[in-house]
Amino acid sequence: MSDTQYTSLPIPAQKRIALVAHDHKKRELLEWATAHRELLVRHDLYATGTTGGVLETLGLKIHKLLSGPLGGDQQIGAKIAQNEIDLVIFFWDPLEAQPHDPDVRALLRISAVWNIPVAYNRSSADFMISSPFMTTEYSRQIPDYSDYRHRLKPNL
Ligand code: PGA
Repeated sequence: MSDTQYTSLPIPAQKRIALVAHDHKKRELLEWATAHRELLVRHDLYATGTTGGVLETLGLKIHKLLSGPLGGDQQIGAKIAQNEIDLVIFFWDPLEAQPHDPDVRALLRISAVWNIPVAYNRSSADFMISSPFMTTEYSRQIPDYSDYRHRLKPNL
């Protein structure tokens, strides 16, 4: 087993946060965001379309993406891969199947690939938002994927 090599990526104090809530969790996210509004306002906020509209009622500036089932979760995943999102807060509904369940799974997977912190419920979001790293620079360790990128030699 070879040792994994890592590259350090500095994440500034102002984080780029993606926020998503399934329909039955939107009220809970709104309550959570209301409680943490003063902290959230310091960061750069992104959200899937409908969630973003709900959060805008708090006077927060939100970069709104497409609605989740229409591709918004995949847009967040693409932004993670392009290093445009630092954290994900995703209040998902464990009691209802979603038409875009594969997209949710893909978002979880790409977050793991790039070592992105993900809060999947209110208490993990509480822990995340109260972390000292939310107000300071953080060094995110990203696995060095160069071996993977070069796994096939051009002459094969
Ligand atoms: P929505 O999408 O914010 O547009 O409702 C959320 C989701 O992924 O279900």
